[in-house]
Amino acid sequence: MNKVAVIGGGASGLMAAITAARNGARVCILEHKDRIGKKILSTGNGRCNFTNLHQEPICYHSENVLFPWKTIEKFSAQQTIAFFLELGIYSKNRNGYLYPQSDQASAVLDVLRMEARRLGVEVHTETECREIVPNKNGFLLRTNTKDYRAQKVILAAGSKAAPSSGSDGSGYTLAKQLGHRLVPVLPSLVQLKCRENFYKSVSGVRVGGSVSIYVDGECQAKDTGEIQLTGYGISGIPVFQVSRCAAIGLYKKKTVTAELNFMPDFTEEQFLAFLQKRIAARPMKTAEEFFVGLFHKKLSELWLKLAHLDRTRPVGEWTKEEIQNLTNLIQHFFTEVTETNPFDQAQVCRGGVNTEEVTDTLESRFVPGLYFAGEILDVDGLCGGYNLQWAWSSGYVAGKEAANA
Ligand SMILES: Cc1cc2nc3c(=O)[nH]c(=O)nc-3n(C[C@H](O)[C@H](O)[C@H](O)COP(=O)(O)OP(=O)(O)OC[C@H]3O[C@@H](n4cnc5c(N)ncnc54)[C@H](O)[C@@H]3O)c2cc1C
Repeated sequence: MNKVAVIGGGASGLMAAITAARNGARVCILEHKDRIGKKILSTGNGRCNFTNLHQEPICYHSENVLFPWKTIEKFSAQQTIAFFLELGIYSKNRNGYLYPQSDQASAVLDVLRMEARRLGVEVHTETECREIVPNKNGFLLRTNTKDYRAQKVILAAGSKAAPSSGSDGSGYTLAKQLGHRLVPVLPSLVQLKCRENFYKSVSGVRVGGSVSIYVDGECQAKDTGEIQLTGYGISGIPVFQVSRCAAIGLYKKKTVTAELNFMPDFTEEQFLAFLQKRIAARPMKTAEEFFVGLFHKKLSELWLKLAHLDRTRPVGEWTKEEIQNLTNLIQHFFTEVTETNPFDQAQVCRGGVNTEEVTDTLESRFVPGLYFAGEILDVDGLCGGYNLQWAWSSGYVAGKEAANA
């Protein structure tokens, strides 16, 4: 019987182990934390957004653009839903974002653990894999406790994002020891720090808007949703979605700028007309009073300050240029991005093991019998269940191939 060792007991490792065992292999998981699946517990704010009904190739990124989708197609969102339903997870659908009905991420981990146990998967926690040595019978795995032997190995050790959950980047070291190259590993789905010193005054404001990332003046990504302003810069889902472009721009030492539009539903002409009409209806209101009911007080105060408008002056006295200046600030608010937040704040990493060096069955092109699954590969998805979907799909493919090879 084929013996498969899975390094890493995260989402992709558990899926790989279950699939390999269902395909007849003897399976063990080596996990260096004291328990498996720690990261799963913190996903989706503790509710685990485990997949998304809307799936298309552009939801996944890699330097090797076509690579992720080939794997997703082999184990789709529908298959994921059916897999979890069979294990007991009834899905709750929030606009296509799927969660367990119980709204508990622990439920997802529990069913995976129960299924692994049912299939006889051995789980060795507090066991850190330090070296993978290929030999004529398969592999010798050197760990902090003892050596393990296996015919096939699945490296599912995650990235560097949220290292307290166990993904401390040691998987990259193991891959490099075996000759694999890395696409630069950078924080993604992460907050952005900005240069301007006014952020403390607007900290805590949440506002609907769009954010575009410019790298050396060229627009690279845009997203719309609820933007959160923090003491150091910008956050929120739309910021997360564009952060991968900011990260690579900064890594390449380019100038990275974010353009915020706080009225994205209006064209420039519509917004100008809207403001003019609002002014005409209440010309005696002070600038401070004028924005009540339209924008958060902290934001309007910032705009008045940046536009050099006296907050006690009646808005009916505003000149055409002053109004134009204000609309520009509200719809084209440029801010310089200086850094992403570090790996411990990131949900995922962009970059990882170069997927050119991995076959479509997720086997290493350098070391036969070594497979990869999950975030360790240079694949990252959008925020919204796509990164777990990548973990499930790649875990499934690696587990099946390793068992049947
Ligand atoms: C706060 C947060 C919220 C998130 N929310 C969502 C969400 O709602 N939906 C979504 O799709 N994605 C979400 N993600 C992303 C998603 O959780 C990850 O992409 C996914 O869990 C990665 O799975 P993985 O198996 O590749 O890696 P991991 O889950 O990181 O697992 C890797 C495992 O390998 C172990 N390991 C590492 N090195 C070694 C070694 N040398 N020896 C032994 N063991 C080792 C680690 O301890 C860890 O258990 C979120 C991420 C974070 C941080």
